[in-house]
Amino acid sequence: MGAYHDDNGKPVVLECVREAERRIAGSSFISCEERIILLLSSFLLLGIKEYLPMGGSVKMVEETLKLAYGDDSEFIKDKRIAAVQALSGTGACRMFADFQKRFCPGSQIYIPVPTWSNHHNIWRDADVPQKTYHYYHPESKGLNFSGLMDDVKNAPEGSFFLLHACAHNPTGVDPTDEQWREISQLFKAKKHFAFFDMAYHGFASGDPARDAKSIRIFLEDGHHIGISQSYAKNMGLYGQRVGCLSVLCADEKQAVTVKSQLQQLARPMYSNQPLHGAQIVSTILGDPELKSLWLKEVKIMADRIIGMRTTLRESLEKLGSPLSWEHVTKQIGMFCYSGLTPEQVDRLTSEYHIYMTRNGRISMAGVTTENVGYLANAIHEVTK
Ligand code: PLP
Repeated sequence: MGAYHDDNGKPVVLECVREAERRIAGSSFISCEERIILLLSSFLLLGIKEYLPMGGSVKMVEETLKLAYGDDSEFIKDKRIAAVQALSGTGACRMFADFQKRFCPGSQIYIPVPTWSNHHNIWRDADVPQKTYHYYHPESKGLNFSGLMDDVKNAPEGSFFLLHACAHNPTGVDPTDEQWREISQLFKAKKHFAFFDMAYHGFASGDPARDAKSIRIFLEDGHHIGISQSYAKNMGLYGQRVGCLSVLCADEKQAVTVKSQLQQLARPMYSNQPLHGAQIVSTILGDPELKSLWLKEVKIMADRIIGMRTTLRESLEKLGSPLSWEHVTKQIGMFCYSGLTPEQVDRLTSEYHIYMTRNGRISMAGVTTENVGYLANAIHEVTK
């Protein structure tokens, strides 16, 4: 499962989230705009449970855009971004797919092979035809860069591409900065539209600024892009369903129009966004002290996973495995695309009670100091 657990195998509620909840319970930490709306409705602010404005929490969206586009982003200052609160990353992807269907009828979406399986469901249910592009190279267990570039080059001009901004799921393989630059240049030449799914912001390197590099490269090159952001993983708010969909537009006027259309997509589906998760996020990101605590906690989570990758690889090497396990430490994020075959995975399950998807994807969040030796030994036994 793609959910972070600590070194004791237990789910985690971040300390910054606990503190934010204490503050929300004691008062109402909402933006001025939201406060005015609520005051106009003459409700007490304490623990208020009224509807958010259309488009969701203004403060949450504002802070979320800063994380992806940069604190001093000229696009934010120029109000060129149409953005709405979304039902976590899945909801943001789905809303974008619906937007694509409604306003670019006949267009298709290019999806990497492999990808998070729900991407296929999302664009299928939005009735957008899907194409695939090369991404993973099974022999090198790394990026199939030339295959990817060929597919980008051969796609019809102005195509939509789904890109994983960082910590690609399921492979853990990301392009290097240089490769992102080349991809961005080719997108420019082909006038393609990049839609970034950013479900693991901060989880790759432990530093959200570093993990936003792919997006920043595209922004420097002057693309109009779309981004799905989620707080499921990086704040541990899985069940709160808090995220954001943004589309960078040509100017403020276009952004106003696009935002209004996004709101119109949401209205008949769920009308209004959930409040509590958005309050948690805006409380944390709106307070410098809580934000720095969050950054520390994200780094702790990412570092634990990076540490487990190193230990798993070293343990396999110590056991004398003749295979290369370099990819275990080269890949990044919550998942390790181990290269184990479905038959080897079946043996791990039946003989060792170790569970992973049959494509060999290990959720590194499930690996702990206590079980990593057992896991390495079992992998060694089934790959001998
Ligand atoms: N995108 C990718 C690549 C994911 O792996 C996930 C969750 O596993 C999501 C989006 C959506 O996550 P959520 O809807 O919980 O934010």
